[in-house]
Amino acid sequence: MRQLPIRVKLTAWYFAVLAVTFVLFGAVAFFAMQKSIESTVDESLRDRAEGIRELMERVLPKDPERLADVLREHAELQEEGDLSQVADPDGHWIYRSRLMRRYDVPTKEAAGPVTYNLQIQKLPLRILATQARLSGGSYYIQVAAPMDDFQDALNHFKWVLLLISPLLLLLASAGGYWMSRRALTPVDAITQAAQTITSRNLSSRLAVPQSRDELQRLSETLNGMLERLEAAFKRITQFTADASHELRTPVALMRTTAELSLRRPRQETEYREALTQILRELETTSTLIEKLMLLARADSGVEALQFAHTDLADNFREACRQGRTLAQAKELSFQEQIIEGPIIVDGDAYALQRLFLILLDNAVKYTPGGGQVKASLSDTNGFAVAEIRDTGIGIGEADLPHIFERFYRADKARSREMGGVGLGLSIGRWIAEAHGGTMEVESTVGQGSVFRLRLPILRS
Ligand code: ADP
Repeated sequence: MRQLPIRVKLTAWYFAVLAVTFVLFGAVAFFAMQKSIESTVDESLRDRAEGIRELMERVLPKDPERLADVLREHAELQEEGDLSQVADPDGHWIYRSRLMRRYDVPTKEAAGPVTYNLQIQKLPLRILATQARLSGGSYYIQVAAPMDDFQDALNHFKWVLLLISPLLLLLASAGGYWMSRRALTPVDAITQAAQTITSRNLSSRLAVPQSRDELQRLSETLNGMLERLEAAFKRITQFTADASHELRTPVALMRTTAELSLRRPRQETEYREALTQILRELETTSTLIEKLMLLARADSGVEALQFAHTDLADNFREACRQGRTLAQAKELSFQEQIIEGPIIVDGDAYALQRLFLILLDNAVKYTPGGGQVKASLSDTNGFAVAEIRDTGIGIGEADLPHIFERFYRADKARSREMGGVGLGLSIGRWIAEAHGGTMEVESTVGQGSVFRLRLPILRS
């Protein structure tokens, strides 16, 4: 059943539900009809028994000997009078119609009126037996009605149900199959179209039927998914291309340096110089590789940060200590303003330290000698706010929305010269977001920039 196409499964279910419904309907209709016939017959039997009782009530006190004749006359006048019998309190027949005698319907000593079915010599009978208390004795009255005609009608009805139901069932199931086929044809079309989409043509989209139903929603949802996949795919391809490009440059540089040094015999100092240059490039390359691996792990979700209660004030103070050393080396003034006392956040101390250093390092890198770097940490409305402000070169309006993108550098030459590859801020933003925080920037070209980080505080 599991391998069958949906339209077949749907039809099978439809068939099963319909078959059960038909069986239930047939049974209920049949028994309802039977009950209704019986209650109509019972009513007429009750009327007839009551007629006989009234007659006996009139005749018995005055003329008991004539009772049998009167009952016979009465019976002959009745349409179905031929099926009645009356016994006296001792069980002797007072009157017994011809058919009752022929079928020898046994007497029944019932206190109240009871109706029951009896099959005698292939003739189905419905009998009502009752008792009439007259002149101090109990007389047994029985009236009957033949049920053969009714049973024929019921049988006929049963056969009609038995023959017509399977036919209707087949017709309805064929209709059900046709409808599910029709309803699922667009799904086949979507499946076929989706099968043709690969990484090479991720920009193709499925045709969206304007049917305002689930299928339109399905195609739109799949198209939305394709769009997200395409964007992610583009990001990855771009990232790989940028990463290889960034790696190629230092490798090429190292190779040229080594080849040039080996072209002819040289002084030891020359070799030393070449090796120092190669070592510098190697350091840049391994930092780059480390950053790339961090981002790759972050993307695949395996970069597990070690969250613990961390004193952000302490962490920030330590980052500022290193920031001050960097600033002093470049002859920049460095000021820090850190809130007293601990600010406890749920965070990874190592990652947070790294984030602060990225911001401080950038502030120092992009501020010319003689400038200023200010670092502050405060707490506002349950958030720790760390601000790194510089009086550096600033960031142009066109570059601002992009600086958190991977490998984005507002000024490639200057950034590279400073040892940057354009990954710092994207790593920083990832760390901030992984801590449930945000990072924003304000900047004016030629005047400086402010990077503001907000992190939720556990307690201060
Ligand atoms: P990089 O390694 O190039 O510094 P980042 O991701 O840290 O990469 O920064 C991306 C770009 O944003 C930098 O190349 C630079 O153009 C700009 N930038 C970042 N911080 C500052 C700053 N404090 N002042 C001016 N420009 C900045």
